Amino acid sequence: MGHKVDFLCRACHYEERDLGVGCGRRPQPCLRLFRCDNCHSIGSTWVGAGGVPRCSLCYHDAITLLADDVMGVACPKCAAAGIFAHHREDVWE
Ligand SMILES: [Zn+2]
Ligand SMILES: [Zn+2]
Repeated sequence: MGHKVDFLCRACHYEERDLGVGCGRRPQPCLRLFRCDNCHSIGSTWVGAGGVPRCSLCYHDAITLLADDVMGVACPKCAAAGIFAHHREDVWE
């Protein structure tokens, strides 16, 4: 099971909502949060046992995977400190 995450940058008001993170019923693949420095976005993408994780928006593989419980990361748009809000009650399978 996983939960939903929102990303919000107070500086430039870039936000991404309802990003899924975590694993489904099977252990692989899992949804992981990432920051893409190619298209400057935050998102979540499927990461499996094989293959290279790619940005779900631009499909570039130069992404930085973030921890499932990450609380903050530099905003990909403006480099200010962005925050993650975890909605643990919002569970998906
Ligand atoms: Zn920003
Ligand atoms: Zn991208």
